[in-house]
Amino acid sequence: MAVQESLQKIRPIWIERVSRELARGEGVRVGFAEQLERFYELLEQTVATGDTAWLDPILYDWGRSPTETNLEEGDYYVSFVINRMIALIIEVTSNNLEKEEALEVLAAVIPIFTHSLSVVVRYEMETRVAHISNELGKVQEKLQELDRSKSSFISVAAHELKTPLTLIEGYTSMMADVAKDTQMDSLLQGVNTGISRLRRIIDDMIDVSLIDNNLLTLNFQPMWVSHLLNLLKNELQKTITERKQTLNILEFEGSDLMIYADTERLYQALQNVLTNSIKYTPDKGTITINGRLLPGFVEITVTDTGIGISPEHQATIFEKFGQLGRTDLHSSGRTKFKGGGPGLGLSITRGIIEAHGGTIWVESGGYDEVKLPGSTFHILLPTRSEATDPRIARLFSNFENQTKESEISVKENTPINNSPA
Ligand code: ADP
Repeated sequence: MAVQESLQKIRPIWIERVSRELARGEGVRVGFAEQLERFYELLEQTVATGDTAWLDPILYDWGRSPTETNLEEGDYYVSFVINRMIALIIEVTSNNLEKEEALEVLAAVIPIFTHSLSVVVRYEMETRVAHISNELGKVQEKLQELDRSKSSFISVAAHELKTPLTLIEGYTSMMADVAKDTQMDSLLQGVNTGISRLRRIIDDMIDVSLIDNNLLTLNFQPMWVSHLLNLLKNELQKTITERKQTLNILEFEGSDLMIYADTERLYQALQNVLTNSIKYTPDKGTITINGRLLPGFVEITVTDTGIGISPEHQATIFEKFGQLGRTDLHSSGRTKFKGGGPGLGLSITRGIIEAHGGTIWVESGGYDEVKLPGSTFHILLPTRSEATDPRIARLFSNFENQTKESEISVKENTPINNSPA
């Protein structure tokens, strides 16, 4: 009883003190004082009953009240207010009550204030987490929109470039016929090199837009990984020799297994990885192809002794234009040391491997042009023994599951009628 009387005594002083310190402006102060009156009344109820639930509604209102500005600026305003309320109740009791009376009041109210603080902090955190998730959702939406416009730009640009390029190709070949055995011949060869490079870029852009729109069709045929690797070796041998590099293709379990895959697309995917290994490995470096058989998969690894890839880039190199920022690396040479291209190769490679139901990832000890930590690309391919596109197989299995489910629900919903007809 004594505590409650003491609380009554200091009520107007505390309310005046808190609103003077925390609410600036007359209008705000009136509203704030009303809130403080409400809080104080509930505080007294809590002291009288020992039940902190009395305070819950007002704490809930306060905890959920941060404004958009508070949230954006990361202010924990309500927690700060309660902290100040604690400091001011200590000040007001010590200045206005006898020592013993003050201690009694503080012993009763401090646990209630600390409880209030913990509740408000929790509510404020929840409000903040909801705000952040909401903001993240908006950013994600924007990113998706950006990705969509990136892929429609690629598709439009590729088709727009294709038509004039075909025309240029036609005219160049006509000019080549006329200029045969003249000085123009070598100039036209230069034009042809440019044309092939442009054609490769356009083809890559078309592949990226096919992959983005899930339109890449695969032509499954029986094939052997070792066969594909030997074809690649033959094609790349000239470049490897020019760059004084060594290409080792090791025999591994699984390389002679017959699997079903789109040979041309897989060739393209592995060619991208190998060309990169050549490009990002200095002269005299070594590239090793190895692998192993895993349950349901054959793994192919391509390891080089090149400049390696930093951890942050390991996550982005499989995205389209993942390395677009590195203009210092752009070059017209396809296998020149560090001669970066438009940054579509690995995104296409991943699209092809994933369309086969496989995965690709990279391991590297980081980027260092002096220590040359190298990189290892891992490719997992399903050891499929029939010519079915995994995406179609998935569609069928979904369809079958749905059919089974609807059969079950039909059975469940059909009344059992045992009576003879
Ligand atoms: P690009 O056309 O630039 O070669 P890719 O998609 O083929 O595009 O490769 C993306 C980026 O990944 C490259 O620009 C390069 O920075 C990095 N990269 C790919 N393979 C290797 C490798 N074997 N060693 C080091 N960096 C690599």
